[in-house]
Amino acid sequence: MTIISKNIDQAVEILNGENLVAIPTETVYGLAGNIFSEVAIQKIYKLKQRPLFNPLIVHTYSIDKVKEYVDDFPEKARLLAAHFWPGSLTMVLKKKSIIPDWITSGKDTVAVRIPDHPIVSGLLKALDFPLAAPSANPFGCISPTSPKHVKDYFDGSLKMVLDGGICKNGIESTIIGFENGEPVLYRLGSISIEEIEDVVGEVIVRNKKEVAPDAPGMLARHYAPNTRTFLVENIQDFIHQFENKRIGVLSFKKEIKAPQIVHTEVLSSSGDLKEAASSLYAALHSLDKLNLDMIVAEQMPLIGLGLSINDRLERATKQK
Ligand code: AMP
Ligand code: MG
Repeated sequence: MTIISKNIDQAVEILNGENLVAIPTETVYGLAGNIFSEVAIQKIYKLKQRPLFNPLIVHTYSIDKVKEYVDDFPEKARLLAAHFWPGSLTMVLKKKSIIPDWITSGKDTVAVRIPDHPIVSGLLKALDFPLAAPSANPFGCISPTSPKHVKDYFDGSLKMVLDGGICKNGIESTIIGFENGEPVLYRLGSISIEEIEDVVGEVIVRNKKEVAPDAPGMLARHYAPNTRTFLVENIQDFIHQFENKRIGVLSFKKEIKAPQIVHTEVLSSSGDLKEAASSLYAALHSLDKLNLDMIVAEQMPLIGLGLSINDRLERATKQK
C-alpha cells in the first residue's frame, strides 16, 4: 500500500534510505530520489520504465545550491534565475563533476530547477542532497497533478506520496538551454515564451526535429491517454464522421453538445490559458476512465500557454 501523507519527516527518512517518494511541485507530481545515490536513481528509471538516454532534472532550493552543481552561469541564465526561481523554469547548464553521469545520461550539462511549492522547499531544505524528480507516471503516460493520480499508477510499488494538494500550474516546466550564452527553447511548458522573452529578449526556437539532439527524451508520443485521442481545430466538424461512437471531448471554453458526445471536459470557461493548463491532465485522466471509443481535443489558441498545451496534446495524440 502506498501511503498519502503530509509528513515531511517520514519522506526524509525514506529518501535517506535510498528509496523513492512522490513529491508535490507546482508543475506536476515528481518521482523523487537522491541524485547522489545510484541505487535510488536506478529505482526511478525502473519504476517509470524510463529509457536511460532520458536525463533527469535536479531539484534544489536556492541559487547558491545551484552554483554548487553548475560550472557556467551565463548572464541571461542569471537574469532568468532571478526572475523565475523559485518557479516552473528548468535551465540546462554545464555541469560540475559532482553531478553524477547517471543523472545526465552521460551529458556534460545538467538540468536544474528550484520548484515553487512550500512543502517541497521544506523537504529539500531538510535533506543533504538535491532530488531528481521526473513526473510520477509510467513513461509516456499522462502526468499526475494530484496524489490520487500517483497512487492509481504506483499503488504498492511506491512507499509514499507526499501530499501537497493539487498542482497549481499543472504542466511541466519550460526548459531552456544556452548556446554561446543565448537562450534556446528545449521544451515548452508552464512559463510562456513571451514571459521569458520579456526578461531576456529573443529565445532561439528550433523546429522539433532539430531540438532532439540537445534535449534527449523529447519523444513524439508522450503524455498519452490509453484511449485513442485526436487533436482538431473544430470539434463539431470532426465528429460528424463518427455518429455511432462514444466520444469524450476536451474543449477550451465551451460545452459541446452532440448525441455521440458522452462527456465534455471544459478547461476554462473564462478562456484563461493558465487555468486551462492547470486543468489539462486532470481532464485527460477523467476522460481516460470513461471507457470511450475516442477522446477529441480542441486545439488551443496559438499564443502563450496555448502553445504549451498544444505541444502536450500533439504528443498525446501520436499513435504508438
Ligand atoms: P522530465 O521528463 O519532465 O523530468 O524532464 C526531463 C527532460 O529534461 C528530458 O526529457 C530532457 O528533454 C531534458 N533534459 C534533462 N537534462 C538535460 C540535459 N542535460 N540536456 C538537455 N536536456 C535535458
Ligand atoms: Mg514526464
